[in-house]
Amino acid sequence: MSDTINELADSEKDLFRSKIESFFSEQNTQTDQSQDGIGDADTTSLDKAKSFQMDLSQAGLAGITFPEEYGGAGLSDTHQEIFNEVSASWHMPTSPLSISHGMCLPMLNQFGTHEQKLRFMPDNISGKTIWCQLFSEPGAGSDVASLSTRAVLDGDQWVINGQKVWTSGAHYCDYGLVVARTDPSLPKHRGLTMFIVDMSDPAVEIRPLKQISGGSGFNEVFFTDLHIPKNFQLGELNQGWNLAISMLMFERVSIGASAGGLNTDRSPDLIRLAQDSGQANDPIIRQKLTDLWIKEKIKGFIGQRIRDAVSAGQVPGPEGSIAKLNGALIARLARDTSISLVKAEAQAWDAENENGEQWTNACLGAAGISIAGGTDEVQRNIIGERVLGLPKEPDPFKGAAWEDVPRS
Ligand SMILES: Cc1cc2nc3c(=O)[nH]c(=O)nc-3n(C[C@H](O)[C@H](O)[C@H](O)COP(=O)(O)OP(=O)(O)OC[C@H]3O[C@@H](n4cnc5c(N)ncnc54)[C@H](O)[C@@H]3O)c2cc1C
Repeated sequence: MSDTINELADSEKDLFRSKIESFFSEQNTQTDQSQDGIGDADTTSLDKAKSFQMDLSQAGLAGITFPEEYGGAGLSDTHQEIFNEVSASWHMPTSPLSISHGMCLPMLNQFGTHEQKLRFMPDNISGKTIWCQLFSEPGAGSDVASLSTRAVLDGDQWVINGQKVWTSGAHYCDYGLVVARTDPSLPKHRGLTMFIVDMSDPAVEIRPLKQISGGSGFNEVFFTDLHIPKNFQLGELNQGWNLAISMLMFERVSIGASAGGLNTDRSPDLIRLAQDSGQANDPIIRQKLTDLWIKEKIKGFIGQRIRDAVSAGQVPGPEGSIAKLNGALIARLARDTSISLVKAEAQAWDAENENGEQWTNACLGAAGISIAGGTDEVQRNIIGERVLGLPKEPDPFKGAAWEDVPRS
């Protein structure tokens, strides 16, 4: 369903707004200051995320624009905008679901068959199942199209072998979307296919990686003769690159231009912190906070522009890279502003300050936003080539079969 913000009657907008407000007041999430990094959720925050999402779903406020038939609320983009506006001043404990909802759900909706949507979307929307994204490999990060994980058809099953890395949340996810090579004789972008995998299958081994923050948000994932049904293929055979690009765009939009989760505006918290700590009249602090507030507002407009384009039927294009790069730069600005405010407590906080750790986590996590979903350098390349029309990077193996390209 698509409409502009003015097409919904004011009374209907007000009604919807107050429904969301009363939902959040009842949940009382405003006092919850915790911010998990991508995939970095303990059992408590995972349970909190799942039960919050279930409540949201039962209130008819989850999967707002997705069809009711597939577990969504079947509402308009205007409803989504209103939800984003109202929820911005609350803390939604849903970061552990950000990949599941920001990337996997729109992919299922866009490329799934009717049966796949019926089977997988309702549980994804309600938070009953959580999904992860398995693209990166030890030898394929920025150049993800060169990946080596293989999928071979054996009767009516696909057999997958290979290794993924940096898979956020794999250790608590039920399903994943994996890209694998189905035809090595084609050039690297053309022999890939996307699949749905059941992460609880014994042929999937998940090994957590330890981070500087002490958390374990990422994993190595090994597939050893993983058999999946033929109908777990998502989209067309050997068209996985097109799906991967769409998913990366959803990821970039999700990181750079969505509302909530990792992309929650930090300025309201930091303004509150400045007030509570008696620093709100310091001219340098005020200038930093104003700068951050303005940039977060602009980020919101970029997001709205992209969401409007998507609701008008356009696939997010290179502007997703602008949103992603901008979101990463703002995350670093928020980190620097928070360090100016909390000073040494960004590294060593008072044991009695139960929210102390959040600043350290936010500071340590900010750099990762410049890498996840394609690094800042890669976004700059895309903007340079596809927005500004600069010459493309030379590729001596352009058009060569993937199996003929030397790799380490
Ligand atoms: C927080 C976080 C969450 C993540 N979650 C997931 C996930 O859930 N699923 C998943 O599949 N992956 C995930 N990743 C992995 C992420 O997609 C990759 O780390 C990223 O694409 C970069 O790949 P790489 O680490 O292999 O670095 P490389 O590709 O090896 O890059 C190394 C350096 O070289 C630069 N570089 C590379 N190519 C170029 C170029 N052409 N021009 C200019 N500079 C270049 C890069 O900018 C970088 O600085 C996550 C990463 C992070 C940080």
